[in-house]
Amino acid sequence: GAVEGEFDVLVLGAGPGGYSAAFRAADLGLKVALVERYLTLGGVCLNVGCIPSKALLHVAAVIDETSHFEALGVKFDKPAIDLDKLRAHKDKVVGKLTGGLAAMAKMRKVTVLTGDGVFVDPQHLRVTAADGGAKTVKFKRAIIAAGSEAVKLPFLPKDDPRIVTSTGALQLRQSPKRMLVIGGGIIGLEMGTVYSTLGARLDVVEMMDSLMLGADRDLVKVWEKFNKKRFDHVMLKTKTVGAIAKADGIEVSFEGEGAPAPQTYDLVLQAVGRTPNGKRIGAEAAGVAVGERGFIPVDLQMRTNVPTIFAIGDIVGQPMLAHKAVHEGHVAAEVIAGELKGDDKLARSAFDARVIPSVAYTDPEVAWVGLTEDEAKAQGIKITKGLFPWTASGRAIANGRDEGFTKLIFDAESHRILGGAIVGTHAGDMIGEVALAVEMGADMVDIGKTIHPHPTLGESLGMAAEVAHGSCTDLP
Ligand code: FAD
Repeated sequence: GAVEGEFDVLVLGAGPGGYSAAFRAADLGLKVALVERYLTLGGVCLNVGCIPSKALLHVAAVIDETSHFEALGVKFDKPAIDLDKLRAHKDKVVGKLTGGLAAMAKMRKVTVLTGDGVFVDPQHLRVTAADGGAKTVKFKRAIIAAGSEAVKLPFLPKDDPRIVTSTGALQLRQSPKRMLVIGGGIIGLEMGTVYSTLGARLDVVEMMDSLMLGADRDLVKVWEKFNKKRFDHVMLKTKTVGAIAKADGIEVSFEGEGAPAPQTYDLVLQAVGRTPNGKRIGAEAAGVAVGERGFIPVDLQMRTNVPTIFAIGDIVGQPMLAHKAVHEGHVAAEVIAGELKGDDKLARSAFDARVIPSVAYTDPEVAWVGLTEDEAKAQGIKITKGLFPWTASGRAIANGRDEGFTKLIFDAESHRILGGAIVGTHAGDMIGEVALAVEMGADMVDIGKTIHPHPTLGESLGMAAEVAHGSCTDLP
């Protein structure tokens, strides 16, 4: 068909990667089209990921906190939960943010095209709307930001509302009595936390030998101890091997070290990872190479094998996190603007983050960034560790929540920080300081001598650095 519209940059997918790229490109003076199959912008993160999960987790955390208060001399009644109202609240939070994005796109004169985008060739993309109407747009450069979707286990019954992915779990349609979480990663444990606080008994099954893989064992231990009361079974090194839909629930059978007899659940959440959308965008027509698993390989400037086509976010690989997608989106937009406008400095922009933080927004939160202690051990890297237990933190004790700790990992010779991890309330809000320290090449004296406000949880970072410093025997 006829070509309708010609753009400097076409961005495919309006998640955190896509909208960040589109906005940065527009701010740099380019004519931008943003193609999104759904009516709202924001992608997985805003619509069915980071934001709705955190809206629910905040409510869960407040409810959980009140349950600890009896020991402090304040007794609350058992909360009465209105699921419809809670769902409406979550939807309102999402609406506020996606509406904000639409307004920002308009302000920047980014053309939003709603429909499914498929490449026709390296300069054209066809957008097909839900009503079947299609148009073809031309572009000088493209940024693929088509994201990922939840992996579905092939042996689970299809089309049963009692078997969900995170998207279904976030709809908050039911309040189950017994829930199974398949996959003990961050997403599974976050959603499990929400439902268990709302009244469900939890089981979790994980193939590997630990929950929250990637975090150091000592952090996970603290989390497990604090959350023990939520679970009937924590099954590690165990697989789900079958499921039968029955009138009274989904009967699931297990195999492995921690396998119990078959169990029946009202809700089964499959949270076993996410798969990139690389195979459904017509990449081959544009000549863009897509790996076997659907990831698109890129260089440090986010360029694919086709020099005019870039890719960012979940679709280019791990870690699949919104903050990584945003930074990659900025890089792609800057490189393109630099090339199209002949600005060499912009054209040299590249993704060179040393570290990307991870956070489980559970209760307590678990956050880590950079080198972990387990990785240091495995790789034979000599480190000096500074560990500050929150049983020595005035603020954590005053809050009645001293179960956590703060740990910093330093290079044993240079004393520069390599990474850090925190388990405890608000860990996620504090881990950014560790990321900054790593990016700036701070050493233990820099962090230890930085005056943190007292009494705060953040103070524990300075204390951990001082602990590390105190343990050094080779100081001048
Ligand atoms: P996405 O957000 O996946 O967006 C891709 C967009 O492209 C989608 O809107 C899709 O509809 C569109 N699209 C795809 N193909 C086409 C096509 N052919 N045509 C038109 N449009 C198309 N990350 C965090 O950092 N912190 C968190 O707390 C966090 N919590 C999460 C909780 C859950 C339950 C889930 C599922 C994820 C969470 N994540 C979190 C991960 C985060 O959501 C992703 O890393 C992030 O959304 C990736 O952004 P993206 O731009 O790569 O793609």
